[in-house]
Amino acid sequence: MGETVLRLRDVHKSYGRQEVLRGIDLDVAEGEVVCLLGPSGSGKSTLLRTINHLEPLDRGAVFLRDELIGYRESGGRLVELGDRELAGQRARFGMVFQGFNLFPHMTVLENVVEAPIRVRRESVATARTRAVDLLTSVGLADRADAYPRHLSGGQQQRVAIARALAMSPAVLLFDEPTSALDPELVGEVLDVMRHLAAGGMTMLVVTHEITFARDVADRAVFLDHGTIIEQGPAADVLERPRERRTREFLTHVR
Ligand code: ADP
Ligand code: MG
Repeated sequence: MGETVLRLRDVHKSYGRQEVLRGIDLDVAEGEVVCLLGPSGSGKSTLLRTINHLEPLDRGAVFLRDELIGYRESGGRLVELGDRELAGQRARFGMVFQGFNLFPHMTVLENVVEAPIRVRRESVATARTRAVDLLTSVGLADRADAYPRHLSGGQQQRVAIARALAMSPAVLLFDEPTSALDPELVGEVLDVMRHLAAGGMTMLVVTHEITFARDVADRAVFLDHGTIIEQGPAADVLERPRERRTREFLTHVR
């Protein structure tokens, strides 16, 4: 495991009077796979969204390789970055959501080359070559010209992963990537994620797939009511949780 890629310090976030994140500290090292678990409403999605500044923080800071995300210092104060700078920072996080979120009017290949061409100004030829490689790696090279609606949910989610990878992100953020899938399609998506993890990708994964977390994650982190209540090596924490709330959660999802 390498140096710290992602660092969260005292991250706070409220919606109105509801405090959803109550001071989160989390470091993710290069090549590390961290699974984030916790009951519905505990703040997992909000945490992922604050990391790439889809949600502004109320307090605390997020760093990607020592670069402050979302803000710059100006005269001792923090000023939110402009849209262009935010887009540049966001491009360094790949995000894969529960609901695939592919562009419906674009083919699989077009979905994958879109951001590299538009955001990174890659040539069409370069972007296409890389997209074909990525689609091959997720087992979908033969569906490059299909439209998302003609793919299964599992295939769509594998395209979404290829699309995220096309930007060569420093970190991949997954928000319950298999929760919307029919049970028989979960395995093919987890296999792709397993493969990425083995290849050294740095990943923060919100999931209820306990077996995946135990087998693939280096670390499991439990969130409850916006606080990390327990964390440690995935095998230890998932097999022998110390906290009552962690044990209760694990009994429910198993
Ligand atoms: P999880 O992903 O762990 O289920 P979320 O981060 O989605 O939890 O939500 C945590 C809490 O924040 C929930 O009570 C939810 O209703 C609330 N919440 C999430 N997003 C918003 C929002 N945009 N506006 C108001 N409340 C929100
Ligand atoms: Mg969520």
